[in-house]
Amino acid sequence: MRLVELAPDFVAGKPLLQTIEAAGFEAYFVGGAVRDALLKRPIHDVDIATSAYPAEVKALFKKTVDTGIKHGTVTVLDHGAGYEVTTFRTESTYQDFRRPDSVTFVRSLKEDLKRRDFTVNALAMTADGQIIDLFDGLADLKAKRLKAVGDAHERFHEDALRMMRAVRFEAQLNFKLAPKTRAAIQENHRLLTKIAMERIHSEFIKMMLSPHWAVGLADFISTQLYAATPGLAHQQQALTAILKATGVCVNEAQVWLLLAWQMQWTPDQLQQVLKAWKSANDVITASTTALTLGRQLLALSDQALNWALYQAGALALADAGHVLQMVGQIQPARVQALQQQYAALPLKSPQDLAVNGRDLMAAGVKPGPVLGQQLQHLQKQVLAGTIANEPQALLAALGK
Ligand code: ATP
Ligand code: MG
Repeated sequence: MRLVELAPDFVAGKPLLQTIEAAGFEAYFVGGAVRDALLKRPIHDVDIATSAYPAEVKALFKKTVDTGIKHGTVTVLDHGAGYEVTTFRTESTYQDFRRPDSVTFVRSLKEDLKRRDFTVNALAMTADGQIIDLFDGLADLKAKRLKAVGDAHERFHEDALRMMRAVRFEAQLNFKLAPKTRAAIQENHRLLTKIAMERIHSEFIKMMLSPHWAVGLADFISTQLYAATPGLAHQQQALTAILKATGVCVNEAQVWLLLAWQMQWTPDQLQQVLKAWKSANDVITASTTALTLGRQLLALSDQALNWALYQAGALALADAGHVLQMVGQIQPARVQALQQQYAALPLKSPQDLAVNGRDLMAAGVKPGPVLGQQLQHLQKQVLAGTIANEPQALLAALGK
C-alpha cells in the first residue's frame, strides 16, 4: 500500500530520508505519525528510524542535537524544524517490568519494528509513501483493533506501561483491544505498580481527555488496571458509574473533579489522591476548588453563592459547571445563569474593593488580624449587595 498524498510534515521530512538513503543506509517514517496519517488524523512529531548509527547520522547533517544519544536518538534540525532520527534498535532483557537493561543498535528494520508496542504503531513508511507492514498493522488499523506485537503477555512483562498505553490508544483512536491483548493485560495488571506514578498519570489523563475516553475507561476497569492505582482501587462501582457521563473533560482538573464527584470524595480526600498520583500543585488547587464550588452550586441559595463564586473564581466555575453538566446534575441554562451571576459580581478579587488595608489604617484601624477580618467583612457585605463599593460607604460601615 502506498500513501499518495503525504501530509506537509512528511513532505518536509522527505529530503532527510533521501539524504540518509543516498549515503547507503535505510530510513523510514515510523510510529504514531504513520498510524495517524493512515487514519487521516492530524499528525504530530514525525519520527524517523534508520539503519545508520548515531555517529553516521550526525556526519550527514550540519545541525544535530544529541537528544537521546544513548538510545540512538539524534535530532536533525532542518529549516527550523526538528526531526528525531533514531537508529534501529532492539531492547534486550527487561528485569524490572519497565525499561530495558540496554539497547542494541541493529541494521534491520524488522528487528526495530518488533520491539514496538502495538501492530498499528509498528508500521513504517518510505520517503515516497510506501507502507511497510511486517506485523499486519494495516489489517488491525482497518478493524480498529489494538493488538500487541508478538506475544502480548511477554510484551507487557517487558514494559508494564504498555498496558496503560493500550487503554489510552483505545480512547484516542476508538479502537478495541484484541482478545489476547486484553487477556494479557488482565493477567498482568498488577505489574502496573512497578511503573513510575508520573508515567501512569500521564497516560491516564491523556485517556480521560480523549474523545472516546469511556472506551478506554471501560477497559481500564474491565482489565482491572484500576485496581493497581492509588485511590481508584476498590472503586469499581463508582468508576463504572462514570461511564454514563456525557461529553468530554477539557482539562485535567475536570477529570479529577469528575472522579471525585462520583466517588463522593471531600476536597481533602481528593487532595490525598492527587498527591498519591503525583499531580502538579496547580491541578490540585484547581480541582479541589472546583469540587468545593460544585457542592456549593447545588446546596446554596443564589444570594449565598455570590461569596462562593467570588472565592472560587471564573476557572473553577467553568470546571464545575462543565463537569456537573457531564453527570447530569445541572442544566446548561443554569450554568449560563451562574456565569452571568459571576460576571455581575461587584468584586472579582480583593484588589477591586474600593478601600485597602492602608485606607483602613489611615482611618484608625490597627494593623493585625482585625484589619484582615474587617477587609473580609467588607468584601462579604459588598458581594451581598448590602454596602456599595465606595470608600465613604465602606468606611461608614466600619463606623469610621
Ligand atoms: P502519540 O505521540 O500520538 O501519543 P505515538 O504512537 O507516536 O503516539 P510515542 O510515545 O510518541 O507514541 O512513541 C512513538 C513510537 O514508539 C510508538 O508509535 C511505538 O512504535 C514506539 N513506542 C513508544 N513507547 C513504547 C513502549 N513503551 N513500548 C514499545 N514501543 C513504544
Ligand atoms: Mg508520538
